[in-house]
Amino acid sequence: MIRYYPHVQITLAEVSGKTVILIHGLTGCMFRCYKCINYDEIILKRHPDALSIDEVITIIQQHENIIEMIVFSGGEFLQAPIEHLILDLKKVRNASIKPIVIYTTGYYGEKMRMLWEKGMVDGYHVDLKLPYHLLTIQDEDIVTQTLGRSLSQIEIDQMIETIEWVVKTDKGFNQIRSVKYPFLHPSAFLECQVWIDLLNKKYHKDTPYEIHRFVNLNELS
Ligand code: SF4
Repeated sequence: MIRYYPHVQITLAEVSGKTVILIHGLTGCMFRCYKCINYDEIILKRHPDALSIDEVITIIQQHENIIEMIVFSGGEFLQAPIEHLILDLKKVRNASIKPIVIYTTGYYGEKMRMLWEKGMVDGYHVDLKLPYHLLTIQDEDIVTQTLGRSLSQIEIDQMIETIEWVVKTDKGFNQIRSVKYPFLHPSAFLECQVWIDLLNKKYHKDTPYEIHRFVNLNELS
């Protein structure tokens, strides 16, 4: 059973121009990114008052008239077992007509495809942490600094494939974005932009690529 963060937010700040309901799954994360703002609160902290999916659905239904999109985030929401993801997303589908978007790192490509094929999700917003398509063995330090651990070549290849699949299957709800980590050279983001542009051209899509400002925890306190 997936447990949900008790503070469900209705916000305009997540997806430009849209009122979304933002729901965090307490599903942990396989990374520990540089100064992750969610780490202590969403990943480490125990939440005895966590919500069930039925309680989350009640909140969705209370706001059905004002929300335009339902967004699931984490941690890494897709770290939950696939059968639990299917069960919960199916319940949400049955309870609301609003599009469902999942924020993800793109690490669990196989689960992304399964949920997509089952019609459980309308879009993925993928946090492209690094220009994976250009990484070499010399970049191991920067990978570790960014993600808190290294990546095998198999993991990198799978994420490259997943990004391509996200652009290829976009039906208007997908997005790729990067966080402007202060230690990354600006060329990293230009390279990501070029890559996504090429994929869009290849698949005749218009998946947006956004660069988000790095937010320091001190700014939020
Ligand atoms: S993937 Fe996201 S939630 Fe996980 S550590 Fe990185 S920034 Fe935090």
